[in-house]
Amino acid sequence: MINFNFYGCDTVELTKKYGTPLYVVSEDYIKERCKEIRQDFLERYDNTMAVYASKAFLTKEMARIIKREGLGIDVVSGGELYTAIQVDFPMEKVFFHGNNKTIDEIEMAVKHGVGRIVVDNLYELSIVEEIAKKYDKIVKILFRISPGIDSHTHKYIQTGQVDSKFGIPLSNKYIYKAIDEAMGCENIDLRGFHFHIGSQLMENESYIKAVKITANLMKEVREELGFITKELNTGGGYGIHYSGDIKRKPLSYFTDTVMDEVKRNCKELGLQRPMVIIEPGRWIVGEAGITLYTIGSIKEIPGVRTYVGVDGGMPDNPRPALYEAKYEGVIANKINEKKTETVTIAGKCCESGDILIWDLETPKVETGDILAVLATGAYNYSMASNYNRIPKPAVVMISEGKDRLIVKRETYDDIMKNEI
Ligand SMILES: *Cc1c(COP(=O)(O)O)cnc(C)c1O
Repeated sequence: MINFNFYGCDTVELTKKYGTPLYVVSEDYIKERCKEIRQDFLERYDNTMAVYASKAFLTKEMARIIKREGLGIDVVSGGELYTAIQVDFPMEKVFFHGNNKTIDEIEMAVKHGVGRIVVDNLYELSIVEEIAKKYDKIVKILFRISPGIDSHTHKYIQTGQVDSKFGIPLSNKYIYKAIDEAMGCENIDLRGFHFHIGSQLMENESYIKAVKITANLMKEVREELGFITKELNTGGGYGIHYSGDIKRKPLSYFTDTVMDEVKRNCKELGLQRPMVIIEPGRWIVGEAGITLYTIGSIKEIPGVRTYVGVDGGMPDNPRPALYEAKYEGVIANKINEKKTETVTIAGKCCESGDILIWDLETPKVETGDILAVLATGAYNYSMASNYNRIPKPAVVMISEGKDRLIVKRETYDDIMKNEI
């Protein structure tokens, strides 16, 4: 019998060793992507920087890997920042994002000297200035702008449209005022702009539009306010393969286009090309991960469908319930058997929406089989909850065919540890 082999590891053996549900993440895959970023972006273009969007998947071990690979890291909360601090991540390579950073979080960021604070609004600007003064520091910032683009993706992961909670709208009233105020702040060094237009984008037309809009802004604010843009952070959002025929595109599909557009627009408008920063998250880690489950109950409703129950679901992977995300899966202990049935993979929570995969083709499924759901490396562990008081799964990192535990499985006592 042949089992599903994932980056040199027998997945069924992993479940025997660590139990299920189990997140498995390939370090080899992550390193391949980081290498692609270095070769096809950082080494191809000077004055560039690549930052891993850590909200996709962050543990201390992941932060160490990104540190070793030489990328920067982007954080959107005190917890993510704390994780970076705990592994001595070089603070000058940390970007701090978020539409409503708390005063405590900003204080923590300033105290530790994060590389950039990406300021979302004028209220935040005033807080950053105040705290920077208090610690007698000059804080480098970017403004997050909202370029007013509807990217082609699920509306919950669109972030660059006019009607968005993120960023400063590009009407003169707001962005000019923001730049003007920042230039007047003694303890703030405004470096440029940031946009992040959406996630899981498979086409680069939205990036082209966003670069064009931002380049025009750069020209206008240079003329009107004398502000020279030194940095342009173009966000992340590069799509990956989840299911069906749409495959992950190479990084260069996005970054060559972005660089061409930046260069062309700057030339046309007589601007100096700023430093260009990218922030991929999912693209680095999404396909690096799988989740392994044990199959329990199987309910066949004749003429309707067959529900196959697994020992996890929306607590470890909320994306199908949240965004109608589609996943592919395989029966790990029957990887070479012919697919003869179509089943629906149901999670174990008390929600009808807790379905991981609708209509998955499988060999004959039996209780005790192991299901592997593919491409769960991003926004699964990081979005996991304890709904229904289900403990979070363990995370195993595999590297060159060897496995190591990087996050222990939660216990019931872990769930209750703060309760009085
Ligand atoms: C989420 C996010 C990213 C990364 O998005 P991916 O789709 O995972 O690449 C990058 N930058 C910012 C500001 C984000 O919020």
